[in-house]
Amino acid sequence: MAEASEESTHVLSSKHRIVYFLSSMRHFRDHLRSIEIPIRYHSLKNPDEASSLTDLLRKDIHELNPLQVSLVKPGDFRVEASIRSVCLETGLELNIREDLHFICKENQFEDHAANRKSLRLEFFYREMRRKHNILMEINIPTGGSWNYDKENRESFKKTGPPRSPPLYQQTPDRLTREVISLVEKRFPEHPGNLTHFHWPVTPRGAQSQLDKFVSEGLPLFGRFQDAMWQDQKTLFHSLVAAPLNLKLLDPLKVVRQVEKTYSEGNAPLAATEGFIRQVLGWREYVRGIYNMYMPNYRESNFFEASEPLPNFFWTGETEMACMKSCLGQVLDTGYGHHIQRLMVVGLYSLLRGVNPEEINNWFLASYVDAVDWVTTPNVIGMSQFADGGLMASKPYSATGAYINRMSNYCKGCQYNPKESVGPKACPFTTLYWNFLDRHRERLSGNQRMIMQIRNLDRLDELKLKGIRKAADSLLYQSN
Ligand SMILES: Cc1cc2nc3c(=O)[nH]c(=O)nc-3n(C[C@H](O)[C@H](O)[C@H](O)COP(=O)(O)OP(=O)(O)OC[C@H]3O[C@@H](n4cnc5c(N)ncnc54)[C@H](O)[C@@H]3O)c2cc1C
Ligand code: SF4
Repeated sequence: MAEASEESTHVLSSKHRIVYFLSSMRHFRDHLRSIEIPIRYHSLKNPDEASSLTDLLRKDIHELNPLQVSLVKPGDFRVEASIRSVCLETGLELNIREDLHFICKENQFEDHAANRKSLRLEFFYREMRRKHNILMEINIPTGGSWNYDKENRESFKKTGPPRSPPLYQQTPDRLTREVISLVEKRFPEHPGNLTHFHWPVTPRGAQSQLDKFVSEGLPLFGRFQDAMWQDQKTLFHSLVAAPLNLKLLDPLKVVRQVEKTYSEGNAPLAATEGFIRQVLGWREYVRGIYNMYMPNYRESNFFEASEPLPNFFWTGETEMACMKSCLGQVLDTGYGHHIQRLMVVGLYSLLRGVNPEEINNWFLASYVDAVDWVTTPNVIGMSQFADGGLMASKPYSATGAYINRMSNYCKGCQYNPKESVGPKACPFTTLYWNFLDRHRERLSGNQRMIMQIRNLDRLDELKLKGIRKAADSLLYQSN
């Protein structure tokens, strides 16, 4: 195992993310040693250590003279390619093993995709439900429907969440505290603030966080899955992405635990199905897309977007209350829930026309659960529509009205989500119309965009001129 500093710098990595990865690795190392499995561990503590995985592997091959190199399929094409190159160079056989921390095998996804004109989550998800007999009554989905999404889109009343969400607060142990000070010393310039670090770094810690979610969060997870509320960072979400991606939890066991909670009468069906769709469906689906379409997928740029990423993404210093809240929270915790990522941060980047690779690198840097196989399809495909429709059937484009409906951010904002021009114009609303206007031709071929384009056509030319001008000045404004 190796703590290679290049893994934290090839794209920038936030302090939270580095601590999370290194502390989990060190806990795993100690566990292996405690059960007497020999392990060679390269620690960042030693400043003389070579700083890339390839250099460390070369060094180990030289000293250990192995017969072959075996590794579990990495979640990052770059890592697989670099290890492959060292094996080629040293003439060693490379043995890549299936990653058993996923429910869907690689060839199973390929079989699913074969002979299909287009890929859609819904078909894959139904196949997975049947194959693993999850929420199924013989051949019929439990409750008679595959999908309860319509019941899962509520926003909060004016008074906010109906009750307190679960509080996930794991106290850092000695090993984690050591890693926190190492990261402060080695990566002082990296984004993020480590005053609070509460992520579980062992399978046991991850399980106790999951248990808390299942008993306190799951019953309201579905209903308020898309809702946002100022200063409420995690709401009724599970926070399992990070421990799942670091292999501290087994995804099929997570799904079965949640299904059991429903069958014992402790969670509604819509919430249970909604959660299972995320883990059994979306999580496995995006991995399948990544494995099928990388490495070229990363460079997709359907809208030819070329704006640089504004600097405030790294500081959270902006007048937009929604962005300030979502960015500030990521810097403080390394976390944001799906709608904050998709319909605030990702949406702003899409409407502004930020280069997809730049925003992808920002997402990779910022969230503790970021790993290339899951971040890249979500950003390039789902959020930026840069793949032209492979992941999503239409771009997730909306005005500030969506954010206003799903949160209370706009209440504390100097802008007005209804206005597209003038001093109070909401940047989301201005940029939304400008986005449709700029890409009218590209978008009009998409059946699911017809309503949005029709609404654009209803704007008179004078209004549109004003919007174009306002959008230009937003882009030229300093960050
Ligand atoms: C722009 C963008 C970037 C994203 N980047 C990442 C990332 O780097 N790492 C990551 O794990 N997820 C990513 N996601 C997916 C999703 O937003 C996160 O998994 C989720 O917000 C993590 O919070 P949670 O664990 O509380 O999830 P919950 O809301 O409690 O959902 C339960 C679980 O379902 C799974 N899940 C839900 N949606 C997805 C999805 N679209 N893709 C994969 N798994 C999903 C996750 O494992 C998640 O933990 C991204 C989504 C978008 C739109
Ligand atoms: S008014 Fe616009 S910028 Fe302000 S919080 Fe609402 S959506 Fe965000």
